[in-house]
Amino acid sequence: MTQRIAVYPGSFDPVHFGHMDIAQRAAKIFDQLIVAVYENPKKPLCFSATERVEMLKTALAHLENVTVRAYTGLTVNLARSVGAQVLVRGLRVISDFEMEYQMALTNQQLWAEIDTICLMTRYEYAFLSASLVKEVFMAGGDISQMVPPVVRAMLLRKYEQRHTGGHEVSQLSL
Ligand code: ADP
Repeated sequence: MTQRIAVYPGSFDPVHFGHMDIAQRAAKIFDQLIVAVYENPKKPLCFSATERVEMLKTALAHLENVTVRAYTGLTVNLARSVGAQVLVRGLRVISDFEMEYQMALTNQQLWAEIDTICLMTRYEYAFLSASLVKEVFMAGGDISQMVPPVVRAMLLRKYEQRHTGGHEVSQLSL
């Protein structure tokens, strides 16, 4: 029987519980799920592709049929090269839909065989985003309900690197 392989692409800067929930649920639907970290999205990044892959690998280590890798170029090219005909994406609020719809149709134009499956977010993650995580962290807020411990640790490390000039890290409630 042929394996059902799917790619879950994204920036994951950083990975949070909303992303992890989508990966977990998609891993139940497909034989193999490849979480693909887009190296150079147009938005400003906090973490390198290597760091984002590292975080995802730790966060998703319990899922046996999930692998994590970085990629550049077209998502459909990656999908084709790994034998996947399905892209997985997550949908939060209505505003996500327009963007996902546009991307799904563009990818279909690029490769007619590709399909995009959008999984609805869980109620508790509906307003969770990577930028919110970074904003709350930088303001000293508690992000333990948003991200796994590896992400908190890496944010803290990054924050310390950027503020070697004596910023009070102890101000942060982490
Ligand atoms: P993008 O890929 O657009 O740069 P992200 O890396 O943040 O954005 O997200 C990757 C995918 O995960 C997207 O499909 C996005 O809609 C989805 N996603 C992001 N946050 C959540 C969430 N809280 N719940 C469900 N899906 C989410």
